[in-house]
Amino acid sequence: MFDRLSSLVIALTLVAVAAIFAALAGGNPLVIAILTLAGVAAAAVVHAALPSELPEPRADTAAPAAETPRPSLLRHPDFFRWADQEKEPLIGTADNIVTIANDAAVRLLGRHIVGADIRTAVRHPAATEALSQTGGEGAADLISLVDFPRPGQRWTMRIAALSGGDRIIFLSDRSALDAADRMRSDFVANASHELRTPLAAILGYVETLQDMNGDADQETRHRFLSIIEREARRMQQLVIDLLSISRVEADRFRRPTTPVDLAAIVRTTVTQLRDSEEARPHDVVARIDDGPQHVLGDAAQLGQLAHNIISNAMKYGRPGTPVTVKLGRDGARVRLAVRDEGDGIAPEHLPRLTERFYRVDEARSRSVGGTGLGLAIVKHISERHQGQLDIASELGKGTTVSVAFPLAPED
Ligand code: ADP
Repeated sequence: MFDRLSSLVIALTLVAVAAIFAALAGGNPLVIAILTLAGVAAAAVVHAALPSELPEPRADTAAPAAETPRPSLLRHPDFFRWADQEKEPLIGTADNIVTIANDAAVRLLGRHIVGADIRTAVRHPAATEALSQTGGEGAADLISLVDFPRPGQRWTMRIAALSGGDRIIFLSDRSALDAADRMRSDFVANASHELRTPLAAILGYVETLQDMNGDADQETRHRFLSIIEREARRMQQLVIDLLSISRVEADRFRRPTTPVDLAAIVRTTVTQLRDSEEARPHDVVARIDDGPQHVLGDAAQLGQLAHNIISNAMKYGRPGTPVTVKLGRDGARVRLAVRDEGDGIAPEHLPRLTERFYRVDEARSRSVGGTGLGLAIVKHISERHQGQLDIASELGKGTTVSVAFPLAPED
């Protein structure tokens, strides 16, 4: 009821009041003094015997710090929101147990990973080794996961260590970048191989002529020199095509803005090819709609596209059969379609024809002076002009290659 200090004050007050009354009543002063001292002593003993109270807790030390639930980034609602907006897989773990996985991570590894040990969720020896390390050492390192999650693919993993055993695991797909790197190095290797073959022939025939030391008869010399010239021209064409493809690739993201007349460009190309030394120049039949057909384009590149498609039809069509070049409106587009009556192409080759150096029949391509780059150049030019390229072919009947371009807007 009373606290310890108040009880002592009350007891002492009562002793003092009793002593005053005793004195007023004429009591013996010695007896009064002894009783007063006894009262004070009794109050002091009782005060010492009372249990001491716990001090009132102070607001700022309400509970020891260790017992406060630790605020975690992984449990913050904004973290969930951000994680799900991330395009690449992101996983949150607490003491190696997956507590959250964003949509991309669920798509990659499955919903069952939530609640599982991260080392079983990301099954890869390099990932297991990195995830088994405690603490934040090496956190910034990119860990390469080769053949993950399937053979031939490659992902990288990065671990961000938070406080108290929480971690965020970032996964990133490198397969497409690796494929682009591979394509680049394959391209250099293929181009070197293509150049080396005619070069070896040229050097071989030159050395033979030198060894003959003027003993070769006229006919032999003429034959050797013709081969040297043919191989040198092949190299020249290859260098021209390599330069074209690198120029077209460099322009890839620059949309042409100048209206050009595709009908005039195709007419000029047909005339050039009819006047050229290509085989069967007189088989080309042009059916070009009257009037201009404006597209936003690069005239030189569109001329090259038409040249490559028409010259392929001339090379691979059967001699004596027509190569038909049609150009006309197709809805809001203008379509160039080139048809030949050749051996045609088997369906399994069609998707690969626009790859660099891909040929259906290598010997035949070489015999007609092909470089294997013509249709790759066509594809790039078509893409830059927002064109749609189609190759349709029937074995034994022939091939039609067509490209449809959006018409330039009329002013
Ligand atoms: P190439 O210089 O070898 O002609 P291209 O890139 O122009 O290279 O064509 C790739 C391959 O596609 C050719 O080697 C050929 O096998 C095939 N091809 C292209 N056009 C035709 C066609 N009109 N008819 C049949 N095959 C063709």
